[in-house]
Amino acid sequence: MAGEPQDDCLFCKIVAGRIPATVVRETETTVAFRDINPQAPTHVLVIPKVHHPDAVALATAEPAILADVVRETGEVASDEKLDSYRVVFNTGSGAGQTVFHAHAHVLGGRGLQWPPG
Ligand code: C5P
Repeated sequence: MAGEPQDDCLFCKIVAGRIPATVVRETETTVAFRDINPQAPTHVLVIPKVHHPDAVALATAEPAILADVVRETGEVASDEKLDSYRVVFNTGSGAGQTVFHAHAHVLGGRGLQWPPG
């Protein structure tokens, strides 16, 4: 069923504590942890605890939780003392999505180019 944990999902395993992660924030609906392969001095992922394959699916099924995810990106930026940062939702493999559990990348701590590659 939509939103239920998936046995084969890496991020559902992080939510369940079955795979280690460096968690920096947690709320009733979200977890934020440091990306294992950081692309900037600050690179944190904010994920919903519920499983949806991408941000649009989350927005459609549980929009309040997508709002929680986005709000948490701001809390991460504040905790990390970032005045400028980028929030990215890679959507689809052609855009670089490799984990099909919705997640926001929070990137900051260096100059960021536009457009992104
Ligand atoms: O947007 P994309 O799906 O590529 O992002 C997945 C991210 O999850 C990658 O940046 C990858 O480094 C990260 N990751 C992680 N911990 C894991 C596995 C992947 O932080 N155990």
